[in-house]
Amino acid sequence: MKFKNRINKVAFIGMGLINSSLVRDLKMNNFYNYASAYSRRTSTINKIKKLKLVNYEGSDVRKVIQDADLIIIGIPVAAYENIFKKVYNFIKPGAIITDVGSVKMEVIKNVSKLIPKNVNFIPGHPIAGTEKSGPESGFSGLFKKGWCILTPNKNSNPEAIKIIKNMWELVGMKVDIMSPKHHDDVLAITSHIPHIIAYSIVGTVANLENTIKKEVIKYAASGFRDFTRIAASDPIMWRDIILNNKSSILKMLNLFKKDLSKLEVAIEKDNGRFLLSLFSKTRKVRKDIIK
Ligand code: NAP
Repeated sequence: MKFKNRINKVAFIGMGLINSSLVRDLKMNNFYNYASAYSRRTSTINKIKKLKLVNYEGSDVRKVIQDADLIIIGIPVAAYENIFKKVYNFIKPGAIITDVGSVKMEVIKNVSKLIPKNVNFIPGHPIAGTEKSGPESGFSGLFKKGWCILTPNKNSNPEAIKIIKNMWELVGMKVDIMSPKHHDDVLAITSHIPHIIAYSIVGTVANLENTIKKEVIKYAASGFRDFTRIAASDPIMWRDIILNNKSSILKMLNLFKKDLSKLEVAIEKDNGRFLLSLFSKTRKVRKDIIK
């Protein structure tokens, strides 16, 4: 394929929140001539059809990827292996495969052996999203001003990296390149641990006795409400992310537990100075992020 030109055929494996947002922006920017999409369930395929997202949609993954110059994987990470096994012998030589999965090292290790030598695999992760799922939840502009992380290896084709970088820049993202391990460490603390905390705290409320639970729901101010938004994220997707990033998550969770214990002791001992110092430091983190 010619790397500099518009892509002839793009195949989307999965058409949920992320891929359906991406296809909307790519289509608007004339990134490709033809797009196809795979999804498992007939109900999802019907939604894709109704939304007129691609030229062809179906559940026969081999047909969807046939002659594709670029394949974009947007399904839960534990489902990759099964798909790669099905398509191994049917990928166009020279094609590029990329993905949008939220965790990288374990997944790359598992699927690398299922990618033919003459195919370029450039893993990616756009850091953008919502708690919603499905093609109907996608929207144009989701990726604007966000960061996308690519984790190619030292043998990756530079032209293929450039195409994927250009694609994310086209939809408004800034692109960084790093190792899969570094990606997983950073994302463990910035995304995976916050989700675990939200699942845990909302789970605690769900286990409370009924009367208290009702009061919590009734009086939920923004703090708890924000946790419930995160804890409403897709259960399968998050199970897969967490189990595929165990070592980074456990390392960061350990640090978090130590800091939480320090906070607990400070509260027990009425150590207002500790609380004030911590809360001032965290306020500065917020200001830096907004900046
Ligand atoms: P989603 O809206 O839940 O859509 C999932 C898609 O994957 C659907 O097309 C679904 O098909 C398909 N799928 C689900 N299980 C499958 C399986 N076992 N085998 C084959 N196909 C399957 O998902 P999403 O939020 O777009 O997430 C997709 C990927 O993006 C995930 O790897 C996630 O880690 C990553 N990501 C998500 C976010 C976010 O905020 N959501 C942000 C960044 C990256 P059917 O409906 O037909 O079953």
